[in-house]
Amino acid sequence: MFSIDSILSKDSLNKEDIVYLLSTNVEDRNKLYAKAAEVKEKYIGRKVYFRGLIEMSNICKKNCFYCGIRVGNTKVKRYNLSDDEVLESAKFAWENQYGSIAIQTGELNSKSFVDRIENLLDKINKLTNNELGITLSLGEQTEETFQRWFNKGAMRYLLRIESSNQELYYKLHPNNKEHDFETRLECLRSLRRVGYQVGTGVMIGLPFQTLEHLADDLLWMKEMDIDMVGMGPYVEHPDTPLYEFRDILIPQEERFNLALKMTAILRILMKDINIAAPTALQAIDPLGREKAIKCGANIVMPNITPGLYRNDYKLYDNKPCLDDAADDCKRCLEARIHLTGYEIGYSEHGNSKHFASRKVNG
Ligand code: SAM
Ligand code: SF4
Repeated sequence: MFSIDSILSKDSLNKEDIVYLLSTNVEDRNKLYAKAAEVKEKYIGRKVYFRGLIEMSNICKKNCFYCGIRVGNTKVKRYNLSDDEVLESAKFAWENQYGSIAIQTGELNSKSFVDRIENLLDKINKLTNNELGITLSLGEQTEETFQRWFNKGAMRYLLRIESSNQELYYKLHPNNKEHDFETRLECLRSLRRVGYQVGTGVMIGLPFQTLEHLADDLLWMKEMDIDMVGMGPYVEHPDTPLYEFRDILIPQEERFNLALKMTAILRILMKDINIAAPTALQAIDPLGREKAIKCGANIVMPNITPGLYRNDYKLYDNKPCLDDAADDCKRCLEARIHLTGYEIGYSEHGNSKHFASRKVNG
């Protein structure tokens, strides 16, 4: 017989337990959130770490069905920050004691792109005295490319699996060589071999997605022994193929609640990993990220992309902070985090504790 108290007192959760937790009502889900907060405090403490997010370019060669900056969306005005703009943003993060930055772009594999990132990593490290932690989220690359960037000081890489269910994956992506499920998995393995802190994640509330899929996603992350996770609600974009299925989506508020439950369950399953409170939460609820921090997340990614370009990195509808300058975002975030009762780990990398113990034990 299932009950929230009996499940939360178990040492390990199985698929049925997770599905039960994902379908909890308000009263029970508050117990789930409280348990996740307790686990977080016990295993990783009260600090929240910043990753200043630089959306370096919206130029992408891929055609993921859900994403507003897919190559097939001809309405997008494409941009590419100059090296100086990237360096300015990195300097802003460093001077404001963010501890880390995350560089994100559409996916490109050209030699000039790979060389440019390598060069930029060098320049960022020189400019900031090697003090910034650097996360990359630049899509699928060869192991050699991952290695080159790692050698230049990138330490973490975020590559979401989007859905760990292959059948669902191909409902979200064209079924071709450029969007191959097995390649994505192999990239995650490559990143691990090279020595990165490896991050992945899924979108939550996708058309055709069930609670069983989501439970499997969480168990898959555990099996992959992942170091960090960034997962958030799917938010539809009118100029994408997946928009056709908007009528079968669960309401945004439910997607939001599911994302919080996923965060809390993951914290209970993987006690010492880093979990980001994704911006997509805030697109649905202005206090979304703060709520995620209260139920297990410990990483926040303030957008430090120059304001001029933010409108053009629209993955989905309602993206927050589109008109803010970086320092406005900083002030509002600081106040928001203090309100949650947690502390900010200024100038600290805030590396995954899980990664550190994996290195020691493995
Ligand atoms: N191009 C790289 C990649 O795909 O890994 C990094 C940038 S991509 C824009 C970052 C993430 O945005 C994707 O992994 C995806 O999960 C998320 N994303 C894209 N479209 C979205 C949508 N409509 N709703 C929520 N998240 C979305
Ligand atoms: Fe490109 Fe990433 Fe968007 Fe896919 S999710 S279209 S790879 S930017």
